[in-house]
Amino acid sequence: MCLSRRHFTALCGAACLLPHQVLSEKTPLATLHGALDIEAFKAKQSLRISAQKDQTVFTTGKDAFLVDEAFEAEITIEDGGLTKSLALISGQVLAVFEPRENRQSDLLLPNATGSIRGTGFFSSVSDDHEFDYLCCCYGEIDIATKINNNTKTLMTNYHNAVTISDGGQFGKSPFGRPYQHFDDELVMLESQLERRPHWQLPNDIMKFLAPHKLPL
Ligand SMILES: [Zn+2]
Repeated sequence: MCLSRRHFTALCGAACLLPHQVLSEKTPLATLHGALDIEAFKAKQSLRISAQKDQTVFTTGKDAFLVDEAFEAEITIEDGGLTKSLALISGQVLAVFEPRENRQSDLLLPNATGSIRGTGFFSSVSDDHEFDYLCCCYGEIDIATKINNNTKTLMTNYHNAVTISDGGQFGKSPFGRPYQHFDDELVMLESQLERRPHWQLPNDIMKFLAPHKLPL
């Protein structure tokens, strides 16, 4: 479902700016499943987005997102539809970004900042911000912690996850498998933009399939 002007105004009230007042027509935001609440900040050229339903899917030009009901983030988008930055405030997000050439996008988490050059990733933040979880599903992410500026590069062809503590320490994922995200969800997101995941599957088989029906 695309967010209509009437729907947006009903959600945000007269005090909000419409998304097109912040973003040009070249950078549309489309809700493909579920529902979003959107608030626009003209001064920062950004959108504050929160999900109203679990399994909400949306695209911003050439990037696609699957989020849970607790998802709230601030997103800035460049002309042409690439996400310039995503600051995850609460909940979780599975995202696929179109490959970038000679530039990166910023993923801002409570405890770290990630630099993304076109990749699939999943992130979840705890309510108390004690831990962030970040999985590089394929591609490359450079991470720097906010405390102590510790750095790490996640480079992988198939799911590589870390936790980041509020003390600035990296940890091994305790889950033993991708946490709350699945291979067929990545395929579903990439297919919305007529792409396929650029991963290398072990034995050409997807190991982690969603136990629930996919939204699209
Ligand atoms: Zn992953």
